[in-house]
Amino acid sequence: MPHPEVSQVKTGLHIGGQWREASDGGRFEVRDPATEEVLAEVASASVADALEAVDAAYRAGPAWAATSPRQRSDVLRRAFDLLMERKEAFARLIVLESGKALAEARGEVIYAAEFLRWYSEEAVRIQGEVSQAPGGANRILVVRQPIGVAVFVTPWNFPAAMATRKIGPALAAGCTVVLKPASETPLTALAMAEIFEEAGVPAGVINVVPSRKSGEVVKAMLQDPRVRKLSFTGSTEIGRVLLEQAAQNVVKCSMELGGNAPFIVLEDADLEVAVASAMVAKLRNGGESCTAANRFYVARAVAEEFSMRFAQAMAAVRIGPGLEEGVQLGPLVNRSTLDKVHQLVTEAVEQGARVLTGGKIRAGKGYFYEPTLLTGVRPDAAILHREIFGPVAPICVFDSIDEVIRLANDTAFGLVSFVHSQDLGKALHVAERIEAGMVGINRGVVSDPAAPFGGWKQSGVGREGGHDGLLEYLESKYICASW
Ligand code: NAP
Repeated sequence: MPHPEVSQVKTGLHIGGQWREASDGGRFEVRDPATEEVLAEVASASVADALEAVDAAYRAGPAWAATSPRQRSDVLRRAFDLLMERKEAFARLIVLESGKALAEARGEVIYAAEFLRWYSEEAVRIQGEVSQAPGGANRILVVRQPIGVAVFVTPWNFPAAMATRKIGPALAAGCTVVLKPASETPLTALAMAEIFEEAGVPAGVINVVPSRKSGEVVKAMLQDPRVRKLSFTGSTEIGRVLLEQAAQNVVKCSMELGGNAPFIVLEDADLEVAVASAMVAKLRNGGESCTAANRFYVARAVAEEFSMRFAQAMAAVRIGPGLEEGVQLGPLVNRSTLDKVHQLVTEAVEQGARVLTGGKIRAGKGYFYEPTLLTGVRPDAAILHREIFGPVAPICVFDSIDEVIRLANDTAFGLVSFVHSQDLGKALHVAERIEAGMVGINRGVVSDPAAPFGGWKQSGVGREGGHDGLLEYLESKYICASW
């Protein structure tokens, strides 16, 4: 039985306000990770199609940049309203193609919509500067102008929010865009293209080109000198490749890459709060989140109690197909992710880790992995150094603040960290010494459209969200004037 949410989605390419098939007729399948069944087939953009999308964005650019900030604000606000009106249908679509539980998907739609509302408010707050040169001879004017055509490459784990986190500020700034969504989850992006059309976004301002040939297609777009901005969310491995490609035309880059978040529980933490927040930090989006707590460091005095309580909470999680009401944990996105997660657990156990709960792939159809808690994990175990991207929590014990800060910073990543303590001064001291773009204190989630989201070190370049997110789409122009 086809799902109504899926059959309503237009599955062509969206270029210059038109829906059409790929020039070479290519299409690819989208599967439901809970059943492994094919949900739909969508058009797969060729290099020629992607360059046509760049052309459409380039031609739409001057008129869109010339609209008033209030017009752009109104369009974004209408898109916010439409997305909220259709929250349930979008949530179900996200569940079907990504596997996450319905409650998570509902949360994602609200989070995604909030970027549109926030940037509808920011569109009218693009400010410049004026000052007198220190020597007194002239004035210094700084104006901010849209950078131009932006190419977006997004991941499958938040198919709606990772798109609006880029589209919101780009449109507010007056840029036009080409979005290449992840091949696992193109349907949400295509459905969103319709929302933007209805909201009054002119033809060519937003183009959506799913493609099975991501490497070729994105490379060709970055070689086109009309492309002035790349915003990528995905793995550090691919981010590095794209930074190199973007260097050829000196394209401005925003990179939201992988993480390896430490979750630190100090001796004086409120353990009830710490366990509740560990559950969110670990299981939000089934662990398939760049901000997921990847390593748990717990003070020796409370390690046993924290581990027992955390294991009980993990064991009580209801697993199943994401559309079933009450399900808290859906399947992982695909077979290779499932195998990678199990491999990391198996290796850690072979090296002496103890399984307090979980540790197994669920038998039958779908890519389900049990919520898993490991203690006694060796410091050199791969599971502490690679992004797990699944519902697995390895716990290590520490004896001093200096030791835990050294362990937390012993990684090439620096996206987010979590600290738990009832002594705010101590927690802030740890937060200041952590090498990460974001720190959560006594909280398991930090994401907020009004805050600058982004990483240090190999977790990324630039920020999304907040006022900083808008600046990524604006060029500064200094005008030296006398009057
Ligand atoms: P990924 O494999 O890097 O893919 C991300 C996107 O890049 C997809 O659209 C993918 O297309 C495309 N892509 C793959 N190879 C490419 C190439 N050679 N050239 C151009 N584009 C290419 O990442 P993922 O598995 O989808 O997502 C998980 C990763 O994203 C994790 O590392 C996670 O931490 C990170 N992430 C970071 C943030 C953040 O804000 N920092 C947020 C969410 C996720 P195909 O689907 O067609 O392969």
